[in-house]
Amino acid sequence: MTLNTTHDAARRSWVESANLPDADFPLQNLPYGAFKVGDNGTVHLGTAIGDQIFDLNAAAQRGLLPESAADACRQPTLNPLMAAGSPVWSALRSRLSELLGADTCPAGDARTNAEACLVPLRDATMLLPAHIGDYTDFYASIHHATNVGSMFRPDNPLLPNYKWIPIGYHGRASSIVISGTSVRRPRGQIKPAEAHEPSFGPTKNLDYELELAAFVGPGNQLGDRIPLAAAPAQLFGVVLLNDWSARDMQAWEYQPLGPFLAKNFASTISPWVVTFEALAPFRAPAFVRPPAETTPLPYLVDANDTAQGGLDLVLEVSLLTAKMRLERQAPHRISRGNFNTMYWTLGQMLAHHASNGCNLSPGDLIGSGTVSGTSRDSRGCLLEYTWRGTDPLRLPNGEERKFLADGDEVILRGYAERPGARRIGLGECRGTILPAA
Ligand code: MN
Repeated sequence: MTLNTTHDAARRSWVESANLPDADFPLQNLPYGAFKVGDNGTVHLGTAIGDQIFDLNAAAQRGLLPESAADACRQPTLNPLMAAGSPVWSALRSRLSELLGADTCPAGDARTNAEACLVPLRDATMLLPAHIGDYTDFYASIHHATNVGSMFRPDNPLLPNYKWIPIGYHGRASSIVISGTSVRRPRGQIKPAEAHEPSFGPTKNLDYELELAAFVGPGNQLGDRIPLAAAPAQLFGVVLLNDWSARDMQAWEYQPLGPFLAKNFASTISPWVVTFEALAPFRAPAFVRPPAETTPLPYLVDANDTAQGGLDLVLEVSLLTAKMRLERQAPHRISRGNFNTMYWTLGQMLAHHASNGCNLSPGDLIGSGTVSGTSRDSRGCLLEYTWRGTDPLRLPNGEERKFLADGDEVILRGYAERPGARRIGLGECRGTILPAA
C-alpha cells in the first residue's frame, strides 16, 4: 500500500484537539465506529477526529461524501463499507482527510458544513462497529505459544505443527462486546490436579489476553480461496481485542478439541476500527525465520507479505483494581509488547483460513492470539506474566494478583509511531470484572 497525502505528517486538522502530539485520532488516522447519542438516538457511523466524531450519516445527507461510499456511510454498521472494497475505502478516506484538514478545508462555507457534522466523543455511546458474523482466534505469537507450552509440556513446548500452520480455533461471535461492557466472572467445570473429580463453580483463574483483531473486507465465496497476495485488498482494519480466558476451565476442557467455554463467555473489542490504509506507514517485515528453519508452504508465502506483512504497533495492558479506583490511583501498566514480534502475519492468517474454501464475509473478525514478546514485561496475559500464578504481579499499592479479581478493570491500548510519520492510536479496550452470578 502506497503512502499518499492522507499520511502526510505535516498536515493538521481544523479540529484542534486532533493536533495534540499524543492524540490517538489525528487527521492521519480517521478510524471508523458506530455510535448513538442518548438512549433513543439512532445508530450512525462516524470517524474519530481528536475528541470529536465526524458523523458520516450526517455528512452523507449533506452530500459531502464520495458517491461510491455514501450509501454505506448511512448504515448502522460498517459491514456494507467493508464489503465495498479498497478503492471505495481509499476514496472515502481521501475525502474525509480533505474535509477535516486545516489546509484543504479553510474557514468558510465548506468548513461550516463539515462542522455541523461534529459530535463530541464524550456525548456518544459507542456500539459494536460491525455485525460480526463469525469470529476466529489464532495463536500467532511464537513467544506466547512457547511460554504457555513450556508450562504445560516442559519437554515439548512447541508442537510440531506450529511452524507450518497458523493455529486457530473458531470463537463465538455472539458474546463479543464493546469496550466498557462489564464482564461477569463465568462458572464452569474445574478440576484441580490433585482432585479426583471436577466441580462446578466460579473460575478462580480469570485472565485477559492482549490481542489485535482484523475485520475482513469483501471476503470470498464458499469454495473459493483468498491468495495471500490478495490479503491487502481483503483486510479492512484492526481493533484491540481482549480474549478473556478462564484458565482453570480451559486446562480441563481444552483437549482434544480446543478452547470452548473457557473463552466464549465474553470477548471485548475497542470501538474504533483503524484501517490498514492508516497503518500503511507502520508496516514491518514479517517474522524473520532463522535460515535453518523450515519455510512455510507456498500458499503462505508472498514477497510483499514477507517484506511488509507485519505491523510496528505497540500494545499495552493496564490494570485498575477496585482498591486503586477508591484511592483514585491511575491504572498500572503491566506490560507493553509490539505486534512486529508475531510469527504469522494477519495476511497469512486470512489466507490460511480461506485455504480450504471456507467463506469469509464482510465483518468477520480474525483475532491474532495473545501478543507476547521475549521479556517478562511484554507478556500479554497473566498466565504468562505470573507464570501460572507462581510469580504474582505486584502492584504499586501493595496488592498482588495471580489472576483477575472481581472489580478489576483491564485496559488495553495500542499505538503506532515512527520517525517521519504522525503517531496514531487505536484508542482503548476496557472491561471490568463483575462477581459470578
Ligand atoms: Mn486468544
